Order: sequence, then C-alpha cells, then structure tokens
Amino acid sequence: MIRKISLFIIIVMVFSCRQDAKPVANKEAPVSVPSFSADSAYRFVEEQVNFGPRVPNTDAHKACADYLVNTLESYGAVVIEQKVKLRAFNGDILDANNIIASYKPEAKQRILLFAHWDTRPWSDHDPDPANYNKPVLGANDGASGVGVLLEIARNIGISSPRLGVDIIFFDAEDYGAPENYTGNAEDSWCLGSQYWAKNPHVSPYAARFGILLDMVGAPDATFYRDQISEHFAANVVSKVWDKALNLGFEKYFVNKPGGAITDDHLYVNQIAGIPSIDIIHYNPDNQHGFGDYWHTVNDDMRNIDKQTLFAVGTTVMQVVYNEY
Ligand SMILES: [Zn+2]
Repeated sequence: MIRKISLFIIIVMVFSCRQDAKPVANKEAPVSVPSFSADSAYRFVEEQVNFGPRVPNTDAHKACADYLVNTLESYGAVVIEQKVKLRAFNGDILDANNIIASYKPEAKQRILLFAHWDTRPWSDHDPDPANYNKPVLGANDGASGVGVLLEIARNIGISSPRLGVDIIFFDAEDYGAPENYTGNAEDSWCLGSQYWAKNPHVSPYAARFGILLDMVGAPDATFYRDQISEHFAANVVSKVWDKALNLGFEKYFVNKPGGAITDDHLYVNQIAGIPSIDIIHYNPDNQHGFGDYWHTVNDDMRNIDKQTLFAVGTTVMQVVYNEY
C-alpha cells in the first residue's frame, strides 16, 4: 500500500514538473478577441466611395488601389499586388490588380478572407433605363466587404490570432455580362478571383477555409446560408452561422437556405480547392435575390449601416481568433 502511494506521489510530482516546464501548452485556452470598431469600418467604406466608382482602367481605380495597399501596409501586412491584364466578355482588356495582404506568411495553418474591391461599370438593374450606362458607386457592392476586412486588418496588426491570415481584395468581380447580353457570357464574372485561383501568389497555396464578404453593410441586411457555400463548405457555413447566432446576431444571420450565388467563392472552391463561403446580402422577396440598391445608381452611403458592419465584422473576428 505504501509503495503504491509513493509511486502515486512520484507520478504526481513528475507530472507537476512537466506542467511547470510547459506553462503555455494549452492551445485551447480562450483567446481575447479584439473589439471590431464599426466607426472605423464605416470610415474605410466612405474613404473608398470618396474616390468615385472604382471601375478598372479609371484613375479612381488606380488611386483606390494605392489607398488599399498603403492602408494594409500601415497595419503591418506583407502586401503583394498581383497586376494582370484580363479580357472581359465584351473584349475590354482590364488592367486588374488583386491586392493580397498576408499576416504571418510563414505559418502553415492559414485562414483566407476576401472581398472584391472593383465596382460595376453599368447600373443595369436601375429602375430608370437612362441610368443603365452609368457606373455603380458600390458603397455596399464592393466597399462594404473591403471596409470590414480593413478594420479586421487593423486589429490583426495590433493583436495577432494564432493562425496566419491572408486578406485578398479581388479585382474585376463585377465586370460580368448583363442579363440581356446575347454572346458568350460564361464565367464572365469574378475575373480577378478566377485568375488568382489558377495563379496563387504563393504556390502551392493552402488555407484551412475561406470567407468572402460581399454586400455586408446595408441597414437590416439578411444573410442566408448560400447554397454554393453549403455544397463546398457546409462545415464552414455552420461554424460562422453558429458563431453569429451565439453572439445574438440572428436578425442578420438567418439560419435558412438562400440562393446559389455565383461569386468569388465559387472559383476559390472550384479551382483553388479552398473550402469557402459567402456572407452576402440576400433578399428572397426580390426576383434577383439582392437588395433594391443592387446594380443601381443608388448604391451609395445611404446603404451602409454601422450595426450591420458590426455584426459581420464581430462574427468574422470571433471565428478567426478562436481558430487554433
Ligand atoms: Zn455587383
């Protein structure tokens, strides 16, 4: 009996010593997640909109690219500009620029966050046909996703999550063929992400999962479980929606199936093989499935609401910082 007790004491002592030797071994310890500032994200959206429409081959597009690169670098990211000429469905040659910001580029375990930063050259869903050939200002369709990700970059620059993070702003997402186009319109959207998925900035590129933010700023926006996301990355959809519902954001994150939306995440899934989801404003009451502002001249700052930005940004940050 005594022997047994002695042995037990020795085992306890050895075990205690081992624990003392490795005080920070518990990778599952709760992390402190920095606070997402909706004011800051709103400002990032506004600063993009102030350049005017960011249509490829325009001065506003070039100026905004410089702004995005400088801002990301100021928050400590390693930034790569992937500049490439891409041919649009109508033969236009676009000077495109995928802007890639990496944190902990050496880390093997990574998370990919992305949004498109270009805006559409045509307001072809405007109720007034006289506006069809005017560019979209893209406060929500473009700037909102980028604004949320810039605010996340600002936070990562201050306090790093455990995993490496890549933030990609894809170009030439919104240069797709209008619905009444009679020529070949196959794969005419998401040209920047299609190019990157075939030519990643590092090869081979791997990430545990990807999250796309598109039209994430409208007042009372609703985000449904996109069916392309469910097909390729159902566990990531659940991870994000569960987190949002736990945080009390059920007003925004509706736990129901939405549309099957062709967006940058389709090609990141199909070509790059990274299980990726889309958080995108979906309105089942509209025939096209999106908000009333979508592809109209009204996609301006009136469609940006700090509470929506906060719900999305907080949810994504909670997901990113709790990954280990
Ligand atoms: Zn669009």
